[in-house]
Amino acid sequence: MIADRVKQIGMSPTLRVAALAGELKRQGHDVLDLSAGQPDFPTPESVKQAGVQAIEDNQTRYTANSGMQELREAITQRIRRDHDLHYEASQILVSPGAKASLYFACMTLIDPGDEVIVPSPYWVTYPEQVRLAGGKPVFVPCRGEDGFRLDPDRLQAAITGKTRVLILNDPSNPTGASYSEEQLRPLAELCERHDLWIVADEIYSRLLYDGRRFVSVATLGEAIRERTVMINGMSKAWSMTGWRVGWTAAAQAVIDGMAKLQSHSTSNVTTISQFASVEALNNCDAEIARRVDAFQQRRNCIVERLRGIDGVRCTSPEGAFYVLPDCSERLVGLKGVRDGIELSEFLLERAGVAVVPGEAFGAADHLRLSYAVSVDRIDEGLDRIERALDQG
Ligand code: PMP
Ligand code: GLU
Repeated sequence: MIADRVKQIGMSPTLRVAALAGELKRQGHDVLDLSAGQPDFPTPESVKQAGVQAIEDNQTRYTANSGMQELREAITQRIRRDHDLHYEASQILVSPGAKASLYFACMTLIDPGDEVIVPSPYWVTYPEQVRLAGGKPVFVPCRGEDGFRLDPDRLQAAITGKTRVLILNDPSNPTGASYSEEQLRPLAELCERHDLWIVADEIYSRLLYDGRRFVSVATLGEAIRERTVMINGMSKAWSMTGWRVGWTAAAQAVIDGMAKLQSHSTSNVTTISQFASVEALNNCDAEIARRVDAFQQRRNCIVERLRGIDGVRCTSPEGAFYVLPDCSERLVGLKGVRDGIELSEFLLERAGVAVVPGEAFGAADHLRLSYAVSVDRIDEGLDRIERALDQG
């Protein structure tokens, strides 16, 4: 018999669609993949070289469970440069991807029956990790008209005596919404007043457009910082999805709890990846700035193309590399297509374009498209989508 724990969750829909697109490509189908949440850029050259050097230097043994001291120090310096916050190296835990960081955070902060606020649309993995920890995700809708940001009154209304955690993903996957200091402050004050943890998933913090400056919720005062579990990682800004490096900065008791879990599950992150990450954190700012410019152009292109389709409404994302167009009006009159799930199937079959249905993120009748691909690919994908819809 399989345990109830896994029966209650599904396979990650983002990974599933990406795998399906890959499988169709292997079979020789012409599939244009706008589903995958990973940049098409290679890992920066000097970072690859640092990995190769680590292998040649025989740096292939276990490291400290929580991560090499040198890497944890590089992370504290990065946090100081980016947010002007001071953490000790002992307050950093390096885990195999931010997904693992989030999982260990959920397992450390949530007791069975606890409620966890998940602003919706949400990244697919949050509710499942909350459930795995025995908690109950409480979804708070964020409307397109509000820029998909969490409204303080709605947050207040969702808080009960059982609420323990708010998961705040800024910039957001799938909406691209980001928060200014003024927008964060009332949310942080509510968390303080109701004694909630803030799990701040900041994995897209470096990917903000139009000159926006990222503000971490942890910078809003010492009391807020104490209750913030700050999570980030190498995957997105540094194009290192396959290297599997994420990290957490938090109060010592939280880090100690998460480190215990890690010590009995994954142990340390791959040693070679840790060496590469030190190089990435210290020496790649100019390269990342160039890539942010490229992402901004891609965003402009995809938003303009989507807005050009009759019946599609599209908010312009402020960060990350996803758009979440509302296709509800476009569904009307499309034969045999009733929702976002069927629309994504239709587009895969008829246009050869892979996208993720909004339903996976709690956004019915929407689609999530990733623009972590070139402008040419975006144009071709949107040409195909337009043709298929016109014929549909
Ligand atoms: N958080 C969000 C919002 C994400 O989109 C992702 C993408 N996979 C992650 C966390 C985890 O990233 P990784 O495990 O590759 O560090
Ligand atoms: N975070 C990415 C996405 O949302 C990668 C897939 C995943 O890890 O779920 O597409």
